[in-house]
Amino acid sequence: MTWVRRLSGWVLCALGASVVMPASPAISQDSELTPAASRTALPVPRQGHEVTEIGPGYYSFRYLGLRNIFLITREGVIVTDPIEPAAAAILREEIRKLTSLPVKYVIYSHQHWDHVRGAKIFADEGATVFSHENCLAHFRDLPHPEIEFPTETFTGTRHEIVLGERRLRLDWLGVNHGDCLIVMTPDHVDIPFIVDLATAGGMPLPFIPDYSLHHWVRSLRELEAWSFENYVGGHGIPVAPKARIAERREYIEALMTETRLAYEAGVPIREIPDQVAEKLRKRFDHLRGFNGIVRDNVRRTLSYYAMGW
Ligand SMILES: [Zn+2]
Repeated sequence: MTWVRRLSGWVLCALGASVVMPASPAISQDSELTPAASRTALPVPRQGHEVTEIGPGYYSFRYLGLRNIFLITREGVIVTDPIEPAAAAILREEIRKLTSLPVKYVIYSHQHWDHVRGAKIFADEGATVFSHENCLAHFRDLPHPEIEFPTETFTGTRHEIVLGERRLRLDWLGVNHGDCLIVMTPDHVDIPFIVDLATAGGMPLPFIPDYSLHHWVRSLRELEAWSFENYVGGHGIPVAPKARIAERREYIEALMTETRLAYEAGVPIREIPDQVAEKLRKRFDHLRGFNGIVRDNVRRTLSYYAMGW
């Protein structure tokens, strides 16, 4: 992967903590793990920002613990998740270093506030804000002053954004993490952008908010059947091997199985988190944050089997 280049980084550190505080303290359970070091935890980039070239005209922008992709085409730029207003302003500066062409699209991966605030700076310059149709209901139901409503949406399972010589494929895999998450894949580099479904080397968020567990597993299996070898996640390292998707799916499956078995065996509810944590430890304690998160993952999974949610 010698074509993955870091273009700039770590410049925000001097701006002060009030600027660089993460949008959500619960994010960034990522790891810098690679297959060759799959049981070694490495430092996670959580400060500053950087731009990484993934392929020709295909870049990833990281701000604190969050990450997006953007494409530079002959007719303009396609930006994905703007993250938050401070991040979007820096992203705009970074794009300006690479091209003078306008940002024509801002595409939301899903509706969650940690990823999709800050599109205004691009919308004010004429960019179309785009998402899956299902995101609209969330933005209307719980508006956020820093979130621009999409001006165009699509329904169904697939759509293509065409700009200049590039096509960006948008795939909606159904309900998984919320009901409007899309996977984005450029037509010239088979490295999709997959947000929040499989953060490489990390644990899920403690209470796994807005995840349908069985549909999550189904979606991960669908992605495993795709042809790509690497992907860009919404958090953490720039490019992760596809094996990390299987690793996340195996963790969720084991979490569900062990929690269900303990629940059906009549183990007292208060004892189940510790018991399941010990069962999962041998296979998964290399995942970053395992000890602090696994019991909350079990508690959320208990509601799945006890309440059907
Ligand atoms: Zn999310």
